[in-house]
Amino acid sequence: MDSKRLSEILEALSKPLRFASKDGFQHLGSLKSVEPLASSLLKEAIALKPSPEVLSRIEDLKGLFTGFDGMDLESKRERVERAFEAIDSISSRPSPVPVVEPAEAVRRLALLKTPLTFIKGIGPKLAERLEKKGLSTVEDILYFLPIRYEDRSRIKRIRELTPGVSEAITGEVLAIGEARYGRRRVLEMAVSDGSAILKVKWFHFSAHYKKRYKNGQRVIVFGQVSTFGGQNEMVHPDIEILSDDDAAHAEEPQGIVPVYSQVENFHQKTIRKIVKAVVDDYARKAVSGVPAGVAERHGLIDLASAMREAHAPSSPQSSAVAKKSLAFDELFLLETGLALRRASIKKESGISFKPAGRLEDGLKKLLPFKLTGAQARVLHEIKKDMSAPHPMNRLIQGDVGCGKTVVSLLSALAAIECGYQAAIMAPTEILAEQHYLLTRKYVDGLGVRAVLLTGRATKAARKKMLATVAQGEADLVIGTHALIQKDVEFAKLGLAVIDEQHRFGVVQRGMLKRKGFGADKGISPDILIMTATPIPRTLSMTVFGDLDVSIIDELPPGRKPVKTKVLKEKDRAAAYESIRRALMAGSQAYIVYPLVEESKEVSLRDATNMQEQLQKDIFKEWTVGLLHGRMKADEKEAVMKAFKGRSVHVLVSTTVIEVGVDVPNATVMLIEHAERFGLAQLHQLRGRVGRGEKESVCLLVAGWTNSEDTYKRLKVMEETNDGFRIAEEDLKIRGPGDFIGTRQAGLPDFRTEGALSDLTLLKKAREEAISYLKKNPELSGPEGIIVKKVLKARWQERLELAEIG
Ligand code: ADP
Ligand code: MG
Repeated sequence: MDSKRLSEILEALSKPLRFASKDGFQHLGSLKSVEPLASSLLKEAIALKPSPEVLSRIEDLKGLFTGFDGMDLESKRERVERAFEAIDSISSRPSPVPVVEPAEAVRRLALLKTPLTFIKGIGPKLAERLEKKGLSTVEDILYFLPIRYEDRSRIKRIRELTPGVSEAITGEVLAIGEARYGRRRVLEMAVSDGSAILKVKWFHFSAHYKKRYKNGQRVIVFGQVSTFGGQNEMVHPDIEILSDDDAAHAEEPQGIVPVYSQVENFHQKTIRKIVKAVVDDYARKAVSGVPAGVAERHGLIDLASAMREAHAPSSPQSSAVAKKSLAFDELFLLETGLALRRASIKKESGISFKPAGRLEDGLKKLLPFKLTGAQARVLHEIKKDMSAPHPMNRLIQGDVGCGKTVVSLLSALAAIECGYQAAIMAPTEILAEQHYLLTRKYVDGLGVRAVLLTGRATKAARKKMLATVAQGEADLVIGTHALIQKDVEFAKLGLAVIDEQHRFGVVQRGMLKRKGFGADKGISPDILIMTATPIPRTLSMTVFGDLDVSIIDELPPGRKPVKTKVLKEKDRAAAYESIRRALMAGSQAYIVYPLVEESKEVSLRDATNMQEQLQKDIFKEWTVGLLHGRMKADEKEAVMKAFKGRSVHVLVSTTVIEVGVDVPNATVMLIEHAERFGLAQLHQLRGRVGRGEKESVCLLVAGWTNSEDTYKRLKVMEETNDGFRIAEEDLKIRGPGDFIGTRQAGLPDFRTEGALSDLTLLKKAREEAISYLKKNPELSGPEGIIVKKVLKARWQERLELAEIG
């Protein structure tokens, strides 16, 4: 069947119908002779000999137009709406995937790397601004997918708006000005389309809003309809100003309009124009890495159509199919890449560590506790890996406070005893320093030389330190990202430990690995990764697809579970009261806020302001400290020291304390705007307390605007302290894309929004990738070569794949 001709026919039929349905079916009356048009077009469609399924849909469609021209407006409207549905269902049939020659594929893949400055209408200035958003090539733009769509195909009359529904109207600005409701300043604008007046309100606005809109201007307003005092209104809607001249009129947004993530100060209109220009010229050059057979099995449309539909969907259904196709394409390649990597790791040669255990025994004697059963088991698994002649790639998952640090230290000692160096990389300076201090306490006595390498050492100090590392005078190197800088060279790195790996990507993992002993001679160091983010099994297969996993599922004895309470704004006084009680008993408290500085847009309580206020009012008799990510390193350190030394009693902070900070005397964790955090993150934060002997509490205060759903979600925190259970809940509620936030998972960023959010699709892509590689492990033949080339072009860097053709 000629599916291109079929689409043309359907388009020819849709066109007059779309016209008629504009502005709330205003033009329905002027629609003439539809029946003969539909009849002749659809006869031709039937003559194309479509599949039986499509044929029956076409016949249904034809039936809708029988007697159409003589119907009243109401019936016509109903028929047209049904016709749209029928057309959508036909046109979203998968079209066959075109097969290109490998040579042509390579040419196209190179073409997609065309810099944006080559696009007509994009000058150096514009390009620079796009670059800031990470958009520098044609391909970047093709994958700059809309964050959402607005269905403007049905412009409503203001009088007919339905409260609670997102709708679009078009009208004229009658007036704009500020109003006051109590102490609140509100910007209001009245828009009329002749049927009624719509009030537009902004609760947060800046001065230029008032200048942007003028009386008499024509606008399209899109937003959720609400009512206030019996009148329809929209709060913070999207507004597009229409200019009067015809040229601009032609650009009036119609149908389903894409909305892109904000780029600098570009208007959506400008972004749309840029994207459209690129999509029009280059989408057809896109090359899919999914073999035709696979694409067909999963009902994917070809990549070019998928891109066009994703940017400018002809119907809501078609955008879904498009996004699924794009996501599958990414997932299939990701899984292929991961599978190749697994295979190549198995082939690498590594170091076989066989220590007698002198250092391990020495450390165990110094520890004030015995390892838990889980710690001992995991250490055993690690030592088994380390003694094998292949590199270890192991992940330790364990809830906060389960004691991963000591396990990693014991592993490091095994490498050191065998005459190698070990490195421990932490995500923040605070943590690196904390690790370092603790480690020194133990290993100094064992004759192990530990050094700290962070970004803040002076140039001279750094140089000296680097020399000791390069000459093998340091046995244990603890640090931050500074460890993977170019100038860091190890004499003989045998084991690299990455703590809290969700802060590190797969790429960093690779970089640390290449610092290994004889990386150039093809021998890789062992890698141990530790994370407190429990990843449900359903996901970990993919997310850590190239790692072996050990789980520490036991907390050290004597820990009391943290009591958690979800509070509303009105319970605030009680929350402060329980902090005061804790302080009185000699304990300390954390108060965590989601943002650092007050943002104009969002009325969140922020750490900086609140620290001042709490110090002045609520906790006058105590010292309230402040810790946030924008402070200088030595300021942060000073505050942490003071908190540890108990001269600061309440620590107000942003989420910088999330990872690993250990102050056992802190027993209250108050989290403001808890609804802003994912459950897994709340769990991490909660792990900062309950580290000592005393009973600890975690108080989650949800903002006043929140729904029952929010409370329900937060209530899970009251019910359980089990990180895996919480992760499962989070997964259920928010979907994995959100949950792992690819960076957390150590995976490269995905280009298709939410590619990971569809677990079923992820699973299918994984199965297909594995089965394809089984059939074609070398990726040979024209099809295999294309998979290889696309993988190379799109994923090599992101996945740190070493050897693909
Ligand atoms: P995490 O797994 O979150 O990194 P840590 O390694 O920081 O946890 O350990 C949390 C606390 O538990 C530390 O104070 C540590 O000294 C202590 N700890 C670790 N293992 C044990 C154990 N087997 N018995 C008692 N306390 C332990
Ligand atoms: Mg830790």
